[in-house]
Amino acid sequence: MTVVTAKTPYFIAKIMSGDMFYLHKSCSYGEGWNVWDKLNSKTRVKGSLYIRNPVEGNEVLKKVINGLLFGTAGIPLSTPKPATSVNGVLRVRELGLNAMELEFVRGVKMSDDLAYKVRSVSEAAKVVLTAHAPYYINLNSPEKAKVEASINRILETARVAYKAGGWSIVFHPAYYGKDSAELVYERVKEALKVIVRTLSDEGVSVWIRPETSGGLAEFGSLEEVVRLSQEVEGVLPCIDFAHMHARSRGEYNSYEEFMKVFNYVEKELGKDILKNMHMHFSGIEYGEKGEIRHLNIQESDFKYVDLAKALKDYSIEGIIISESPNIEDDALLLKKAYDLS
Ligand SMILES: [Zn+2]
Repeated sequence: MTVVTAKTPYFIAKIMSGDMFYLHKSCSYGEGWNVWDKLNSKTRVKGSLYIRNPVEGNEVLKKVINGLLFGTAGIPLSTPKPATSVNGVLRVRELGLNAMELEFVRGVKMSDDLAYKVRSVSEAAKVVLTAHAPYYINLNSPEKAKVEASINRILETARVAYKAGGWSIVFHPAYYGKDSAELVYERVKEALKVIVRTLSDEGVSVWIRPETSGGLAEFGSLEEVVRLSQEVEGVLPCIDFAHMHARSRGEYNSYEEFMKVFNYVEKELGKDILKNMHMHFSGIEYGEKGEIRHLNIQESDFKYVDLAKALKDYSIEGIIISESPNIEDDALLLKKAYDLS
């Protein structure tokens, strides 16, 4: 009997090609997921993939992303009125992009009915959804109530994203305040364990991804989010290239440095992570304390052609989201550079 300790869809896939697995009835949903291609030539299932772990009885949903999908942070600016999530998904499709991040940055506001509608529209349009949790999160707050509220905001984001058929959620975990990095790490880790356990009990399965942060006061170095991913099951990093560039005040902005990042995550998290990446990018202005504001790529120093080439050369798969002010223009700019490299 196989114990599922999977970190990525591909690892799960390997387990599933054995005989101890069950598929959830909702496997028939959608058309975007041809998950069995790589697994078993005789069995083809389209739809969201659920795996019941026969040992632990947990249900794990992992969508497999094939290739690298480019998307927008929120609905494209050029979405026709009314600017709804549904119209945003359709506009993403029209633009030739394949992903969209639902921005719950000012609060998780989406009814169940709307979430289900977004799910069916996005599946039909073959647009993969992710979600960004509210900014107002600090898992290291000295006030217990604020930590609880932060945990709840992440839980709510995951629940709604899951209903909307989402694949992965991102959030900014914490501020260091006056505490040591190690103490903050332990607090964030404990909170993430609670989050993952709660969602697992509820059958909500989306990747939980702490994001690399842009400000020096914010928890979230590459090493910290990678270590969380090693130590908490169900957690993987969201690599925000603009933030890493700002946080390091100028590093992470060349082909060699981007390749080094991919090499590092591969070394620390295993090869499968390269097929399961959630990334952000944009231009960025930064100062002594790190991030000041996001910029359009062409008004910034961001070497996006280098990133495109590194993504291609390392055969990175997953989702990369544009967080530039001009959202879709830069998503298309990076996609074009990628296609040409
Ligand atoms: Zn973010």
